[in-house]
Amino acid sequence: MRAELISTGTELLLGQILNTNARFLGQRLARLGIDVYFQTTVGDNNIRLAEAFNAALERADLIIITGGLGPTMDDLTKETIAGILGLDILLDDDSMARVEEFFKIRGRKMPEANKKQALIPKGALVIPNKTGTAPGAIIDNAGKTIVILPGPPVEMQPMFTKTVEPYLKKKQGRGSSVIVSRILRILGMGESTVEERIKDLVDEQTNPTIAFLAPQGEVFVRLTAKAGTEAEAGKMIGKFAKEIKKRLGDYVYGTDDDTMEQVVAGLLRKHGLTVSTAESCTGGLVAKRLTDIPGVSENFMYGIVSYADAAKTQLLGVPPEVIEKHGAVSEETAIEMVRGVRQVCGTDLSVAITGIAGPAGGTPEKPVGLVYIGFADHDTTIVQRYIFAGDREVIRWQTANVALNMLRKYLLHYKKGR
Ligand code: AMP
Ligand code: MG
Repeated sequence: MRAELISTGTELLLGQILNTNARFLGQRLARLGIDVYFQTTVGDNNIRLAEAFNAALERADLIIITGGLGPTMDDLTKETIAGILGLDILLDDDSMARVEEFFKIRGRKMPEANKKQALIPKGALVIPNKTGTAPGAIIDNAGKTIVILPGPPVEMQPMFTKTVEPYLKKKQGRGSSVIVSRILRILGMGESTVEERIKDLVDEQTNPTIAFLAPQGEVFVRLTAKAGTEAEAGKMIGKFAKEIKKRLGDYVYGTDDDTMEQVVAGLLRKHGLTVSTAESCTGGLVAKRLTDIPGVSENFMYGIVSYADAAKTQLLGVPPEVIEKHGAVSEETAIEMVRGVRQVCGTDLSVAITGIAGPAGGTPEKPVGLVYIGFADHDTTIVQRYIFAGDREVIRWQTANVALNMLRKYLLHYKKGR
């Protein structure tokens, strides 16, 4: 099956919003083993939408159109598509009832304009919308499948997953294949070293294929398999993933959508340990990322943003002489910070960060990107020195990542009573 996507919305053309619908649908169709050959974006204009749709009809079996199902004048997708296919457009009673209900439970009167949302091209299968007002539609017409979905991702995504995906799977039937990808997330090892360690696998790759991505100081290894079923593809990937993990060891911190903070929060919970943080140049980013994880309050106790020298002294007990002699960004200050915060907060573990995020403030001895990251438990203090590249945001992100990773590595090998 060859597919084509048409995204509508002038806001997309103006770059005011990112076309995340195209990304979502691209990923989902790939997983179904459906090839997407074109993605088109058009504004809220019926002539250009008609042009794009006519072109798609020439070259695709499946056409998915998102956007333009709203109640306003510029929402014209259904009308335009029905017009080209020569279909009448009729009021769907069930959809009308659902639109009315949507307003009723919110205690609002339905504006007359919303009536238009319950119009459906004749003969189409209605895709119910549980999170908004506009229903979608699947039209089977002269060997082509046309899917119309609303623009808002919170509406479009569940509608695709619940109704469109099963519909397409059924249509594909037997003999078709699926594509499944898995990502292994690696921190602390460079891309070339990762490649070196698995070079023989990369050289021989056919199915699954192996690809490298390197976002913000991390390395992702993407495994992609094509097989008859999802389970089969998963098994093929699993075999490779296991081998790669064996070779890379603790450097692999997660798979797919795992985040460093999720992994760390899980390990803290597993061992029942508490942690506090003292952050200077990251301004609380480590604390923020940990508190993004629900339920971490059992383990994450305090996050201190000790930005000024005085804060390091007053809150953490860093001796002023140490800052004066070695500077706020130094190994010595980091040691005092990480021991201080652990003591003040009474936690099992602590993490401290001091560095120069830039763009100003660097010197030849202490350049922008220089960061000291400290970790302490009851008997050990470790401080590591890094020089990260990038702008302020990237330096701060990478610093937080490495700080969380220090916690992770400690927790991975943690044994009670040590
Ligand atoms: P529409 O259904 O065209 O009225 O779109 C309503 C809203 O959905 C827009 O204002 C956007 O916020 C969002 N939206 C529409 N199309 C997309 C898209 N392709 N990607 C992400 N968001 C979208
Ligand atoms: Mg729109």
